[in-house]
Amino acid sequence: MGAITLNEHTGAWIVDVEECIGCSDCVEACSFGGIVFDEELGVPLKCDLCGGEPECVAMCPTGALQLVS
Ligand code: SF4
Ligand code: SF4
Repeated sequence: MGAITLNEHTGAWIVDVEECIGCSDCVEACSFGGIVFDEELGVPLKCDLCGGEPECVAMCPTGALQLVS
């Protein structure tokens, strides 16, 4: 459906829930489990890099997470 597009600013692939038809093909396609399907919302959920400033990186107490491009 073309519902997943690249955000050129952050480098994240973003799901447009207005275009998504909830088929779950993207969930099946990701071999890393990087996309999960929200049954209540009827749309896939994935990392959006928090708009380019990842909260998980900021919160990691050991610095084990890094954002690399
Ligand atoms: S569920 Fe995934 S593959 Fe299906 S339309 Fe939505 S974004 Fe595209
Ligand atoms: S906290 Fe980390 S994993 Fe979650 S959306 Fe933000 S960048 Fe992605």
